[in-house]
Amino acid sequence: MEIEEPEPPPRQPKEPPKIRRLHDSVVNRIAAGEVIQRPVSAVKELVENSIDARSTAINVAVKDGGLKLIQVSDDGHGIRYEDLPILCERHTTSKLSTFEDLQSIKSMGFRGEALASMTYVAHVTVTTITNGQLHGYRVSYKDGAMEHEPKACAAVKGTQIMVENLFYNMVARRKTLQNSADDYSKIVDLLSRFAIHHIGLSFSCRKHGAARADVHTVATSSRLDAIKSVYGVSVAHNLLKVEAQDDDPSSSIFEMNGFISNSSYSAKKTTMVLFINDRLVECTALKRAMEVVYAATLPKASKPFIYMAITLPPEHVDVNVHPTKKEVSLLSQEVIIGKIQSVVESKLRNSNEARTFQEQTVEPSASCPITASPMVANKDRRHNPSSSGPKSQKVPVQKMVRTDSLDPAGRLHAYLQAKPLTDLENSNSLTAIRSSIRQRRNPKETADLSSIQELLDEIDSKCHSGLLDIVRHCTYVGMADDVCALLQHNTNLYLANVVNLSKELMYQQVLRRFAHFNGIKLSDPAPLPELITLALKEEDLDPECSENDDLKKKIAELNTNLLKQRAELLDEYFCVHVDEDGNLCWLPVILDQYTPDMDRLPEFVLCLGNDVDWEDEKNCLQGISAALGNFYAMHPPLLPNPSGDGLQFYKRSKHLSASDDGIDISVNGGNDSKMEDEIDHELMAEAQIAWSQREWSIQHVLFPSLRLFLKPPVSMAANGTFVQVASLEKLYKIFERC
Ligand code: ADP
Ligand code: MG
Repeated sequence: MEIEEPEPPPRQPKEPPKIRRLHDSVVNRIAAGEVIQRPVSAVKELVENSIDARSTAINVAVKDGGLKLIQVSDDGHGIRYEDLPILCERHTTSKLSTFEDLQSIKSMGFRGEALASMTYVAHVTVTTITNGQLHGYRVSYKDGAMEHEPKACAAVKGTQIMVENLFYNMVARRKTLQNSADDYSKIVDLLSRFAIHHIGLSFSCRKHGAARADVHTVATSSRLDAIKSVYGVSVAHNLLKVEAQDDDPSSSIFEMNGFISNSSYSAKKTTMVLFINDRLVECTALKRAMEVVYAATLPKASKPFIYMAITLPPEHVDVNVHPTKKEVSLLSQEVIIGKIQSVVESKLRNSNEARTFQEQTVEPSASCPITASPMVANKDRRHNPSSSGPKSQKVPVQKMVRTDSLDPAGRLHAYLQAKPLTDLENSNSLTAIRSSIRQRRNPKETADLSSIQELLDEIDSKCHSGLLDIVRHCTYVGMADDVCALLQHNTNLYLANVVNLSKELMYQQVLRRFAHFNGIKLSDPAPLPELITLALKEEDLDPECSENDDLKKKIAELNTNLLKQRAELLDEYFCVHVDEDGNLCWLPVILDQYTPDMDRLPEFVLCLGNDVDWEDEKNCLQGISAALGNFYAMHPPLLPNPSGDGLQFYKRSKHLSASDDGIDISVNGGNDSKMEDEIDHELMAEAQIAWSQREWSIQHVLFPSLRLFLKPPVSMAANGTFVQVASLEKLYKIFERC
């Protein structure tokens, strides 16, 4: 519907273009193209509808990779006759009524958009029968509406939906898809994944008219059987069962169980089948974390096969972050990934040591004694000493050190006097941080820029394996000073430079999350010219000197214009959003649960303008990533640390402000007890919070993430990022002599 102005004002050259309302049919077709991206997305929606309809058997037939025909038949509860007229209208659903329902939604669907979308880009015919009816109904849909009254017809239990000539009205999409041969295999892959998770249902998928199905499973109670029938014996025989859970509200609440491939399995590509609260989703961070574990643990570099089902309280999962529901967003994602990673790792280590017995489904663990035959148990014990329990092992006393990097016992802060930190810890709680971060859907589906791949490859090729081992298996002991953390790795102690480490981690994560960032919205948009002027003043040796003010203004203006011109790139790839008036409004989430120190924002903006090479694609992306890395790094807060020499700062500042106010400071001079009162408590409290928050982030966000994601570059071995300070064996010898 277009609304015409009675008298359009005369057009001037720089007048903004007129905004008009798009016709509904255009809006719907655009939206449909987003929900149904390719044939496999239509199949996913249809199968999920069938699962939601409590079907026990779901059969899929496909012609011409899904472009000619997709047909999904189920034996579910069917669709009421009265609902047929609105079935394919947008936003009609039986699964959700209020927004709050989303918090606890168990069904796959909730948007009421899938069927509607299909009718805008294909011809859709529905045949359905509900329980107790003598006959069913068939009706065809176009552009959200019925093409004719439903016709009575013979039908078997459930619903059959036919989608014909997909993208018939989207020429470009149809052409690109026609040239790609792999749509059918994508559909087979999808059904395979559903089949090994929903093992109580039977699935089949075949090419239309073919006698043989490419996926065919029957309902079973054994997950392994399901995997065997879908992925074959060679996969099923090489799997280990894994389980992990946590129910500590201060860290994470989840349960995971699944199967992972062992050291005998070999494949060129990772297969990761992930269900979160029964939704088939993708999680790049978890997948990468798993690949890292496999690469580091198994001698032979094979990509893993992984099936995992994770359940979390529904209110911890945001299902509404992706148009095709392909991704979900989790509370405490990094913590959960960390826990899963360590479970998988120890499983692999154990199985690797006891390789000869991997076909036994014996799972030695402290809480579950070995139940296999005594012979196997004995052999197993011989090959895998850790399985008989660590206590029975004679460990030389000087080697008795904490080796579980996740065990908090013995960390420095445990010995420190209890500070009244409870409020702070609370304010640090994930929910508090989360609520300040709004999820934002990234506009770009994928960004396959080869320069990003090259930069990622460079990270891989420069990775130092020794440091990688330290980072992955170290225990964080505590902060030794403002920049260095004390780490324990086996029997060695290291000082590690937290600023360097976090800078590198952030840089690497920017490249990995490239074009897929969630956003942090600044509560007040920050004007770039002011930020840049501020940064230039900070750089000045004499900030009070105003002779260069005009020059600064000019630089600020130039840089602002430059960044405004590059706003689209910054927003699309890095979620750094600059609006038309030159205000910075959004920043990316680089590590979940972490927001950068906003005091460093001016420096960041100046660096974007001055230090980035905007001409060459690769240099430019690297430059921006490095600038972000530097901004998000865990630098010491700008306010000096009040617990130490920094205390002076807060005393002096009181004097200064006192003299500023014209009060004669000599009255109080030299009196120690009054000096105490002169501490600027407000400023000091602010500093205390900043420092404790940083320490909290270092322990709870930085180190878990370093373990997961950092590939330490070779340069870190020589540039002082890691310094070995002691070896416990040697220390022990020294103490022995005392
Ligand atoms: P959503 O799944 O988000 O509700 P859809 O457009 O996928 O939206 O489906 C709209 C509605 O149509 C569903 O809410 C459901 O009531 C009904 N429906 C769709 N497919 C089936 C099916 N196979 N069996 C029974 N009901 C169905
Ligand atoms: Mg649906």
